[in-house]
Amino acid sequence: MELSFILNELGEDRENYFNAVSPPIMQSSNFTFKTVTQLRQAMADEFETNLYSRGQNPTLNILRKKLAALDGAGDALVFSSGIGAISVPLLSLLQVGDHVIAVKNPYSWTLKLFNEFLPKFGITTTFIDGTVFDNFEKAVKPETRLIYLESPNTFSYELQDIKKIAGFARARGIMTMIDNSYCSPLYQQPISMGIDLVAQSATKYIGGHSDVVAGVLTGSKELIRQIFDHEFMNLGPAISPHSAWLMLRGLRTLPLRLQRSFESTKIITQWLNSHEAIQQVIWPFDPAFKQSQLACEQMQGCGGLFSFTLKNTSFANIEAFCNHLQHILLAVSWGGHESLILPSIASIAEPEYKPGDERHQLIRMYVGLEDPQYLINDLQQAFNKLKL
Ligand SMILES: *Cc1c(COP(=O)(O)O)cnc(C)c1O
Repeated sequence: MELSFILNELGEDRENYFNAVSPPIMQSSNFTFKTVTQLRQAMADEFETNLYSRGQNPTLNILRKKLAALDGAGDALVFSSGIGAISVPLLSLLQVGDHVIAVKNPYSWTLKLFNEFLPKFGITTTFIDGTVFDNFEKAVKPETRLIYLESPNTFSYELQDIKKIAGFARARGIMTMIDNSYCSPLYQQPISMGIDLVAQSATKYIGGHSDVVAGVLTGSKELIRQIFDHEFMNLGPAISPHSAWLMLRGLRTLPLRLQRSFESTKIITQWLNSHEAIQQVIWPFDPAFKQSQLACEQMQGCGGLFSFTLKNTSFANIEAFCNHLQHILLAVSWGGHESLILPSIASIAEPEYKPGDERHQLIRMYVGLEDPQYLINDLQQAFNKLKL
């Protein structure tokens, strides 16, 4: 299916709403039926019918069709957050006694899910360095039910060889799931590489305007339906029709926004690479990146999220640099119109800081839609205020 068709036409039955170009926000909790027979049919199959907006809703349905098509998936579910799109399918797939193999540096709340939440249900996790394929083989146990990937992650950008791991898992009847937030469906297609379930935080690129928190899960129709019929409807992570509409609006410009971030990031990372205050730039499409070859093989683009370290790694220096920025905002999240900075030290108390630990030194930058020169000027004036 062509990208332009998906983003502009798919799912939009405009004759149903006065031929409006922009779909309506169907702000209704419930839907009415003419006969008890019709109502009974709807209640028997909430997955396929607009009955109650904790399940389906017409605005949401347009969005689901587009999101499934973007991932080349059978179907999609939309959640009220990205972490909901990760936790709910895990609760669906796993049961007491099951074992998970997960990459060792996933998104912070995903790590908490494996470390603190899932153990309450007798589910154990082995964390591995996912850059080395053999580690997956070594970690497999008879009770391994799921391999959980995040490629690349969003702070240090380790990749996994997705196709190879998916093939390995499938041959052993182990399910696979990936957090694809970093790439979005435009820059990485895990389903075509054999992954069973793809989650992403739609708060980032899909929403794209820093005004909605949402998550997306895609997979085969059977798997998505099974998750919908049980955990999704029981745990209730539905989004509002208004949020669904904001995501539809975000999708219209997704290719343009990603391309702009990607192009600006090439310029900014190149500039940083030759800057005297910089020790290292970490971005999967940087020629010096450790897994640059794998990145170019399995990703179609790279977007605007990267990290760097300063030569002067003192806590005070990193803090001063971030505080001196005048336009690049100090905040969590990414994927919106605005450029952001987030240093590792924001989650480390000064006495715990180890100046020699690369993970502690990392400063994450997200390049938004501003003119790249405007951002470079902001970085330069902050560097000028530091002692090198
Ligand atoms: C932000 C993020 C999440 C969580 O998404 P929310 O929408 O904040 O719940 C999960 N994974 C990655 C990689 C993220 O960046």
